[in-house]
Amino acid sequence: MSQFVEDFMAEVKAKNPAEPEFHQAVQEVVESLEIVLEKHPEYKAAKILERIIEPERVILFRVPWLDDQGGVQVNRGLRIEMNSAIGPYKGGLRFHPSVNLGILKFLAFEQVFKNSLTTLPMGGGKGGSDFDPKGKSDNEVMRFCQNFMLELFRHLGPNTDVPAGDIGVGGREIGYMFGMYKKIRNEFTGVLTGKGINWGGSLIRPEATGYGAVYFAAEMLSTRSESMESKTCLVSGSGNVAQYTTEKINQLGGKVITLSDSSGYIYDPEGVDADKLAWVIDLKNVRRGRIKEYADRFSNAAYTPYDHNLDYNPLWDYKADCAFPSATQNEINGKDAQHLVDNGVYVISEGANMPTTPEGVEVFLNSNILYGLGKAANAGGVAVSGLEMAQNSARYSWTREEVDNRLKLIMKNIHSACINAADRFGQPGNYVVGANIAGFLKVADAMMDLGVV
Ligand code: NDP
Repeated sequence: MSQFVEDFMAEVKAKNPAEPEFHQAVQEVVESLEIVLEKHPEYKAAKILERIIEPERVILFRVPWLDDQGGVQVNRGLRIEMNSAIGPYKGGLRFHPSVNLGILKFLAFEQVFKNSLTTLPMGGGKGGSDFDPKGKSDNEVMRFCQNFMLELFRHLGPNTDVPAGDIGVGGREIGYMFGMYKKIRNEFTGVLTGKGINWGGSLIRPEATGYGAVYFAAEMLSTRSESMESKTCLVSGSGNVAQYTTEKINQLGGKVITLSDSSGYIYDPEGVDADKLAWVIDLKNVRRGRIKEYADRFSNAAYTPYDHNLDYNPLWDYKADCAFPSATQNEINGKDAQHLVDNGVYVISEGANMPTTPEGVEVFLNSNILYGLGKAANAGGVAVSGLEMAQNSARYSWTREEVDNRLKLIMKNIHSACINAADRFGQPGNYVVGANIAGFLKVADAMMDLGVV
């Protein structure tokens, strides 16, 4: 680590204690940007880096609600409004017991660069709660969402802040929150994305993150004159991103042999085909069951519960060509990364946000594989959220084909932007440096234009 990065990180850690995920996200970006700051002393003088790591606003609030027994429950709500230099704050809401300030700050920080890469006019934000939707009734989820929105509504607006879904927040939760927002404000407006298709949503939004991650993998493969056809793929997670990653891999002629949830993973050597995937989607989105049930239903598949004493995740230890981590942050450590490379995996496209630890990233970068980091590879979700905002403003809906074509083009452009920036700054083929620099430059230039605010 250079002296510049070391000094900068010492200050970040002192000022933001007990936020390891935020430190990790900042360090990766600062390491990439050192060469940019050397070439652009004006950014240094204007303290762009010091400003870009500081949220414009953090909102923290109490969310009391009543469970089905009439008992009082209390959760914490948060919204990080990170940067609005190029557009309204935009980024998902996460409902998971692990949610805390540091995790949401890392997500909001990454979102700033990701949104910039999409070429759409969106600033960065992220929010959520330590509420756990698992095991709750629909009525409990509804009461929580309504109470969450009873505070959050005053900070939102189609030109101010437009949240979407993330872990634990899908169509059901967006519906309950949008319903409450509409009632309080007495207006029907595009203030959340990921809405249902009959009430302002965009076609392809549920599919967009997963489809986009596969389009990004296909773009990376095309640099070696290859395609997704016949590729064996490891996918983690079984939620929104994992489901539509699997669907697109199948459509492009590949095969998915693993899926997981937080309890364990399944290995299906014959592949999760369209029929099995339909069963998984029903299991996860309607019956809200566990992935373990897959192995009870399909006899060729094996289920392995996670052993928390292991210092690696066996899901990443199968022979394959591609890996699509689609569950959560830091799910691939250095050992997992080495297993992947040793097993012949040479394409990583991150559907999840920051799923690879710094040690894992180092393994990938030293192995001459195609490593597409989340900021670039999973930007398809927020890109189609941006398209949903555009359709809402125009009071018009595009066809499935039109949205999908735009998504494909955006992913292609993000891929080119990463490649070009990496080339320009002397690191050809390094998507980490490319994504961080390309995402940063647009926001930094806007911040310079807007003055010290
Ligand atoms: P979902 O809630 O739909 O699914 C999350 C999946 O990951 C579930 O299978 C869940 O298992 C598993 N998971 C969650 N937390 C953990 C954990 N701590 N350890 C192991 N497994 C875990 O979320 P999404 O699919 O929407 O999000 C997945 C990832 O993609 C996240 O990193 C998110 O930030 C990122 N992402 C999502 C976008 C979107 O549009 N939805 C956009 C860009 C990025 P279980 O059911 O047991 O909790």
